[in-house]
Amino acid sequence: MSVKTMEDLFVATLKDIYYAEKQILKALPGMVSKADNAKLKKALETHKKETEGQVDRLEKVFKLIGVPARGKKCDAIEGIIDEAKEHMDEIKDERVLDAGIISSAQAVEHYEICRYGTLIEWANDLGHSDAAKLLAESLKEERHADTLLTEIARGSVNRDAEAA
Ligand code: FE
Ligand code: FE
Ligand code: ZN
Ligand code: FE
Repeated sequence: MSVKTMEDLFVATLKDIYYAEKQILKALPGMVSKADNAKLKKALETHKKETEGQVDRLEKVFKLIGVPARGKKCDAIEGIIDEAKEHMDEIKDERVLDAGIISSAQAVEHYEICRYGTLIEWANDLGHSDAAKLLAESLKEERHADTLLTEIARGSVNRDAEAA
């Protein structure tokens, strides 16, 4: 698909985040099972459920703008997820691994926050205010997940990891 207009760019970016959310959904169970800290495990599990809702929400957005819901390969999220897997393969100490998992998960959240922020602006500019509202719900969840991960890191994970 060639991008000529802002509408095209909006749709291309929607396809990017749709692809990314689906990849994240596939990667999260591995992160949940590798996480050792109970709060971290729970936060990742909760966010997996939220991510399922975000995929549904994106499908609603596609419907609203009259475009079939289809993803477009996002090399950025592939790279972030590959890095997360690398951590999970090479870090043996579970305390250090928890700190690594948080850092990977936050890289994912920041990517999403960035994409949703842009999409909301463009949706409003293009007159898709219903789509913008849905996208804003997901942005709120991504921000919350990011904040929660910071709290978990500061609360115990980083200190435990430093003792390793
Ligand atoms: Fe998400
Ligand atoms: Fe992307
Ligand atoms: Zn991309
Ligand atoms: Fe997320």
